[in-house]
Amino acid sequence: VVKNPSEPEFHQAVKEVLESLRPVIEENEDSYRREALLERMVNPERQIKFRVPWVDDQGQVHVNTGYRVQFNSSIGPYKGGLRFHPSVNLGIIKFLGFEQSFKNALTGLPIGGGKGGADFDPKGKSDREIMAFCQSFMTELYKYIGCGSDVPAGDIGVGAREIGYMYGQYKRITGLYEGVLTGKGLSYGGSLARTEATGYGLLYLTEEILKINNIKLAGKTCAVSGSGNVAIYAIEKAQQLGAKVVTCSDSNGWIYDPKGIDLELLKEIKEVKRARLTEYVKARPDAQYHDGRGVWSIKVDIALPCATQNELLPEDAKQLVENGCLAVCEGANMPTTFEATEYLQEHGVIFAPGKAANAGGVATSALEMTQNSERLSWTFDEVDAKLKQIMVDITHNIDSAAKRYGHEGNYVAGANIAGFEKIVNAMTAQGIV
Ligand code: NDP
Repeated sequence: VVKNPSEPEFHQAVKEVLESLRPVIEENEDSYRREALLERMVNPERQIKFRVPWVDDQGQVHVNTGYRVQFNSSIGPYKGGLRFHPSVNLGIIKFLGFEQSFKNALTGLPIGGGKGGADFDPKGKSDREIMAFCQSFMTELYKYIGCGSDVPAGDIGVGAREIGYMYGQYKRITGLYEGVLTGKGLSYGGSLARTEATGYGLLYLTEEILKINNIKLAGKTCAVSGSGNVAIYAIEKAQQLGAKVVTCSDSNGWIYDPKGIDLELLKEIKEVKRARLTEYVKARPDAQYHDGRGVWSIKVDIALPCATQNELLPEDAKQLVENGCLAVCEGANMPTTFEATEYLQEHGVIFAPGKAANAGGVATSALEMTQNSERLSWTFDEVDAKLKQIMVDITHNIDSAAKRYGHEGNYVAGANIAGFEKIVNAMTAQGIV
């Protein structure tokens, strides 16, 4: 009997993890079976689904569905982002929450796994409509979260503006000024370097994993997909570290800029004007804009998928291998399909999975929680230095976990094993709960 057949992304995530944990599971089969450890691990502790009614600028009422999946709290309060996108459903939130539990374990910080969001499309909405939606969403969500129990953050479609509106509503309802959300503005408890953290962290890990394999990042050409928070700061750090990024994309099309992406221009279009990538080529005549997908067709040394799940398909993997790509490091969550991942690994491409490579975002969120608890704010350099150390540590932990089980160089296995071991230890110590 297949459980939850309408949740293909969740099945995909669980399959990928369990496949790579095979050697660990075989070693401990009897005790895991007796304690139903794997069943407990793939069943969220709690799944919350709720109605989100809101009024648009014409006075029309709309109803969306909100979710919070509290997946695993064995090593700390639930922590994970909120996604606002029309594609959101329970299966997607479960896959993200499941992955998040392992990712959070890898950071070495005391945070459990959760994820949430709504099938709301923020595109084309006015500021007032966004605020109305965020307030309605929080009016239900506040019952289930708190600075010591569940601390959501942003994700696709949820940035500083949305976090601000939700934080205001939480404070208004509860009367509490506490670190219940991360990714907050700097004037009300946010952490310096949180905006940059996922993209920067991705490049710190990429540089380190290349170093382990005797390759230098400086001088390499990179393809980035996406043009949101993760993509923009991945491009920024890649450029700072001496690499050249020649692509970016959104859900309509993609840019190829052979001279290297003009980051100031990209930030102006995406962060200030909130406009589409078609604007980019108007100011940059040497660059090309193409409709549809195609970022992975460009010849590059390193591919950094930073948009969304399942955006790097088997045919893309073949193209990358043909073009001599050395490494794929995932900024987004599960951007590479299972088959594409296998193909890349079989053809000697270094592959860093998102749950390790994009953990810098949640790690810095945990640093924001620490600052909120001490009611202090650290400097940018302090946070950035901690972030870098965390990413370097993750790289070596996943490398050595893979080696311990005879999978040298298989960082998917390494990340899953290292995260799993930590969660299993905590779950076992805390009894059957
Ligand atoms: P944003 O909403 O800021 O940006 C998402 C980007 O991806 C946009 O450019 C968007 O284009 C593009 N995109 C979305 N769907 C598609 C699609 N189907 N095809 C092509 N492009 C698409 O989100 P983030 O940058 O925050 O998140 C990106 C990924 O990184 C997600 O997988 C997220 O879960 C993951 N992540 C984010 C973290 C963070 O700190 N922000 C932390 C860890 C992981 P458009 O504008 O057209 O929608």
